[in-house]
Amino acid sequence: MKEKEVGKNLRSVMKEVAKPRYVCEKCARAAREKKNLCKPVRIIVSGS
Ligand SMILES: [Zn+2]
Repeated sequence: MKEKEVGKNLRSVMKEVAKPRYVCEKCARAAREKKNLCKPVRIIVSGS
């Protein structure tokens, strides 16, 4: 993979992490996947 590609990929990864879809109501953790949390609550994101 080219350095440019890695940077691009890294940014997309960071974006994913920065924008979790769910938060845990019990332990206040955030994740993209519902299954990673014990009490997931959907985050409502306005815009894109
Ligand atoms: Zn939890």
